[in-house]
Amino acid sequence: MNSSLLSGDAKERGIQERVVLPHSLLDISAVVPLYNEVESLPVLVETIARILQENQLSYEIICVDDGSRDGSTELLRQMAQQRTDLKAVLLRRNYGQTAAMAAGFHQARGKVIITLDADLQNDPADIPNLLAKLSEGYDLVSGWRKQRQDAMVTRLVPSKIANWLIAKVTGVQIHDYGCSLKAYRAELVTDMNLYGELHRFLPALAFIEGARIAEIPVRHHARQFGKSKYGLGRTFRVVMDLFTIYFMKRFLTRPMHVFGWFGLLSMLLGIAIGLYLTFVKFALGEAIGDRPLLFLAVVLFLTGVQLFSFGLLAELLMRTYHESQKRPIYRIREVVGSSAAPGSGVQSSV
Ligand code: UDP
Ligand code: MG
Repeated sequence: MNSSLLSGDAKERGIQERVVLPHSLLDISAVVPLYNEVESLPVLVETIARILQENQLSYEIICVDDGSRDGSTELLRQMAQQRTDLKAVLLRRNYGQTAAMAAGFHQARGKVIITLDADLQNDPADIPNLLAKLSEGYDLVSGWRKQRQDAMVTRLVPSKIANWLIAKVTGVQIHDYGCSLKAYRAELVTDMNLYGELHRFLPALAFIEGARIAEIPVRHHARQFGKSKYGLGRTFRVVMDLFTIYFMKRFLTRPMHVFGWFGLLSMLLGIAIGLYLTFVKFALGEAIGDRPLLFLAVVLFLTGVQLFSFGLLAELLMRTYHESQKRPIYRIREVVGSSAAPGSGVQSSV
């Protein structure tokens, strides 16, 4: 296997042309978010490097330290100074896995981005399989932890329910949304920056944007060191995020299509009833002051105006939402090692 893994019919479909230049420098960027994983770190980097070298791929490993407090930061800094294939991105504080991943994406220069966990639960040996699948013409290949090694009650059961729900709502039929081991064509992730706060839903968001998605079974190991950063609470957060996704999928780009339409309908109904009552009052000479229909007309009209203006406001808000996303959701303290190119400058904390 070699770098020809990366050429697929995506090239023919013209996707390569959209790649911005810095992305084409390397075959692979491995992006690893990392929070208090000091014991795993040396084995992790060594294993990823070995697998990628064995497959003759040019690569970089980007470890994003998400404000660790167990010495990971210091070790990572040291390692990045010694190795040319490792870039350490040290965040100022703990932002959470998604933000850490986004920080890694922004630094990545590879044509393909691989994400994986730092705790060695994902097996880097699966990377060539992901790449092979990607070269069949997919834009995103997601790992499926078929034999997942985690606690049953707090992790596996809630995750089954969450995965089922997500698949239902988003329409993307994959089994394991939570698996971090994934391969993306770089331009896909660049497009996805907008929604950086929702890494679990990247496949769904990518799908909405027309990406071709595949899923392959991958190995999963029990945690050897440290402990999981999550418990049952995450399931609820995932469900809340799911509402956001549902909203995004349905209404985000054109809220007026929903609110405007209902608003208009309600207003027109109000006007029609009003006209009828006017006719009753003046042509037939009947009193209309005590008729429930009058209240209905007024309520319908006012609701209509409200909905319509709400739709307009939502349109404005959505534009602001999109445009303001250019602002990164993280602040980098420092970027160490491996000719720290993109975004290496320290950003002000405004
Ligand atoms: N992680 C992170 N920031 C956080 C929490 C987790 O960067 O605030 C990293 C963590 O170090 C690991 C990955 O995200 O590499 C997944 O976390 P974990 O293994 O605890 O989740 P699980 O595998 O139990 O779902
Ligand atoms: Mg884990």
